[in-house]
Amino acid sequence: MKDSAVPAAPGTIAGEVRSWLADNWHGVDDAAWRRRVVEAGWAAPTWPRDAFGRGLSRQEAKTVASEFRAAGARGAAVEHTGFPALAGNTVVEFGSPELKREVLPKLLSGEWSRGCLLYSEPGNGSDLAGLQTRAERHGDVFVVNGQKIWTTGGHEARCALLLARTDWDVPKHAGISFFLIPMDLPGIEVRPIKQMTGESDFNEVFLTDVRVPASALIGELNDGWRVLQTALKEERRTMGFELGGSKRREGDRAPLFSASNDLIEAAREAGRLDDPAVRQEIMRIHSWRLVNDWNAIRAKKQIEAGGGSSLASLGKLAKSRILHSSWALKFRLLGARGLLYDEAADKQAYEVDHQLMWSFINSIGGGTDQIQRNIISERILGLPKGFEPDRGVPFRDVRKGGNARPDGK
Ligand SMILES: Cc1cc2nc3c(=O)[nH]c(=O)nc-3n(C[C@H](O)[C@H](O)[C@H](O)COP(=O)(O)OP(=O)(O)OC[C@H]3O[C@@H](n4cnc5c(N)ncnc54)[C@H](O)[C@@H]3O)c2cc1C
Repeated sequence: MKDSAVPAAPGTIAGEVRSWLADNWHGVDDAAWRRRVVEAGWAAPTWPRDAFGRGLSRQEAKTVASEFRAAGARGAAVEHTGFPALAGNTVVEFGSPELKREVLPKLLSGEWSRGCLLYSEPGNGSDLAGLQTRAERHGDVFVVNGQKIWTTGGHEARCALLLARTDWDVPKHAGISFFLIPMDLPGIEVRPIKQMTGESDFNEVFLTDVRVPASALIGELNDGWRVLQTALKEERRTMGFELGGSKRREGDRAPLFSASNDLIEAAREAGRLDDPAVRQEIMRIHSWRLVNDWNAIRAKKQIEAGGGSSLASLGKLAKSRILHSSWALKFRLLGARGLLYDEAADKQAYEVDHQLMWSFINSIGGGTDQIQRNIISERILGLPKGFEPDRGVPFRDVRKGGNARPDGK
């Protein structure tokens, strides 16, 4: 018997969802349906009622999602995935009632499911707090001018989280504000960047006299750095990229070596499984993967217990080394075939080349390897902080390159 055929106990979440679906679901998954799901609080069951939720637990939200699945209906419990999780959870925590009413239905109904992050600038990536895009208040709008770069998905985004400087007379972290804006505002120009893989996933984004409604501000004016920490936490959680090593996880009873089956398979295919140098390399990468898995479990436990996520920096750094080495080994095992970057001619070689190039993303996006080392040295090993020439200095007086104007702005 299928789950949906089992009657749900009255008074339970499952029962409530089932009876709501019986009254409302007519088998058409369209924009109107998604809106109805949002208004009923099923799209984000764990959010509070003033944020289109129902204040349910994560476990109860899973029940909501499975009841929807069983009925073949979509749109439920989407608050923990993708951009809606990232932007939505930040708005739920910091947004004004007006902003919540305006943007949460769009994020939850799929209208704004594609968004981008307008953070990095040509002169400010690692030193994000040194950003120079400015937002000047004129009545009930902010006029925004500046340039962003490496904006993943900017070309297809419907909305964006934007960091801009709103006060130049205070130290760098204290004068930044955080906005959630539509990407179709006049004055936003998106230019794709061609990557070494041949694709264009990132963009330059130019903002020229963009009039952003003051209601788009998330949190208090000039408190953007604090708001950003929530968005970054959500980004790390939804991407999960700091923690991953192999696919093996806590409680996984698979044999120890299954974690490196991909490498063993590549060596076997190349007829090099008996080569001692290859075996040694596989064992080296395998041990990194295992240690990273243990670290991931430790970091996850620490985060669940309400601790910081500094340990995740260890995982992100380890993952860089694991990805580079794994794909470099597979590339070498291909021999001369690896030189052919042509999907039609050799799909497998293309895939390995492509993944080898992509593996370097992990060393840059979300904070470079060097920045992870800084975090590890300061927050885990307790070493002294590096020299900060701009500490406590009004941002206007900080030496800067990039798009700075003669008046320091
Ligand atoms: C795949 C990918 C997707 C991205 N998506 C987005 C996006 O959607 N939105 C967005 O806003 N940004 C995005 N970025 C940008 C990314 O966050 C930045 O590239 C990254 O923070 C590094 O900044 P940068 O490129 O300006 O390099 P820089 O900060 O100029 O660094 C250059 C070099 O100097 C080193 N360095 C800098 N400061 C220090 C220091 N204090 N100590 C030691 N070494 C240091 C760095 O490690 C690096 O090797 C993305 C990047 C990638 C690769």
